[in-house]
Amino acid sequence: MAKQVVTRTYIASIRNQKQVSDDLDSLGFSASKLWNVGRWVCDRVWSEIGHIPGHNELTTYLKSHERYDDLHSQSSQRVLQELAEAFNGWYGKRRNGDTRANPPKYRKFDDDHPRSTVTFKSAGFKLDTKYERLRLSKGSNLKDYWSDFILCEYQTRPDVDLSAVEGIQQVRAVWTGDEWELHFVCKVEIEVAEAPGEKTVGVDLGINNFAALAYENGHSELYPLNCLKQDDYYFSKQIARCDDSDSNQSTWLNQKKSARRTHYFHTLSKHIVQRCVEEGVGTIVVGDLSGIREDEENGESKNWSKHGNLDLHSWAFDRFTSMLEYKAEVEGITVEQVSERDTSKSCSCCGRKRKANRVERGLYVCDSCSVVANADVNGAENIRQKVSPSLACDGGDRSNGWLAQPSVYLFDSKSGCFTPREQVTS
Ligand SMILES: [Zn+2]
Repeated sequence: MAKQVVTRTYIASIRNQKQVSDDLDSLGFSASKLWNVGRWVCDRVWSEIGHIPGHNELTTYLKSHERYDDLHSQSSQRVLQELAEAFNGWYGKRRNGDTRANPPKYRKFDDDHPRSTVTFKSAGFKLDTKYERLRLSKGSNLKDYWSDFILCEYQTRPDVDLSAVEGIQQVRAVWTGDEWELHFVCKVEIEVAEAPGEKTVGVDLGINNFAALAYENGHSELYPLNCLKQDDYYFSKQIARCDDSDSNQSTWLNQKKSARRTHYFHTLSKHIVQRCVEEGVGTIVVGDLSGIREDEENGESKNWSKHGNLDLHSWAFDRFTSMLEYKAEVEGITVEQVSERDTSKSCSCCGRKRKANRVERGLYVCDSCSVVANADVNGAENIRQKVSPSLACDGGDRSNGWLAQPSVYLFDSKSGCFTPREQVTS
């Protein structure tokens, strides 16, 4: 065991959601507007002098802009910093030869601005852990009458005690797609175990199987979304029956639905880390889903939500990945994120890549080496190979079809655990 200082994000729900959501909405819309103004400035400067301004330049240009005063100055600064980071991410992808990468997009859905995350740094929030209240500063433009701040009553998970946390660095207000929640970003000291081994596992996150795992020795596992789909279907029907979408009952149903999802993500990430300890895994390789996020900004998230009645925002994947990181860290396991580029198109056995691969009933079929693999496991194995090379084809211990027979783990709502398919009782 060794001590280590790490960054932790504690998530809290807002108990007076109804009272503060309009105020938070206007901050979220303002953050999107400022992002768009910044984005437009980048276009203008680029077309005049062939240079895209960095964070400091953008702040200098826009400090006196009307939109800058919609948010607390530190919050506005953070929006422009995120924009500059998004441009840097794009340059990086271009340098690595990713010709399909697009520059950061404007945040717009038709005529509406989406609710962007709003970040509050030390001067922009005041925390009262005794009464579990959080005061968030608005910008001077949005202060009407005496109400120059938003007062949230927050609730953390029972095992989280913010009064025991010293260095809270920032607070983020995040729109989950259903409601606003608060993220407290803190520095904390934790006990870290020795890594259980040096092996690697690849994790492919998706919407049919929420996670597909490919271990170094060829073993693979699938975690289908069955129970979340049933849950979603059940709650959507119940919510549709409510006369008024603002009613207490539908609010309660929405909260219950999101609590059950969070529980599912916690249980799954815990289970995966436990499996990694058993298998001697030291590195978990996860596909970076920023591609999906870009599509979402483009308004294409609708295509995602059509899949199997489930509206999983990219936010859900981010949240799951960070849960996995925290839980892995304590066990001495590192989580590496790699680009998902070509991981679904390439054959993980021979490396052959085709434009239109054959995926039939969830199986990946390679014309070149005639391997037949579960498509998600093939993706997971490609993700794993980005960090650690394959032993599959020259090792000889993997007969054809090995990827096609993964173990399937289902969430058993009776026991609240993930169990192999044969043993599920409900
Ligand atoms: Zn092949």
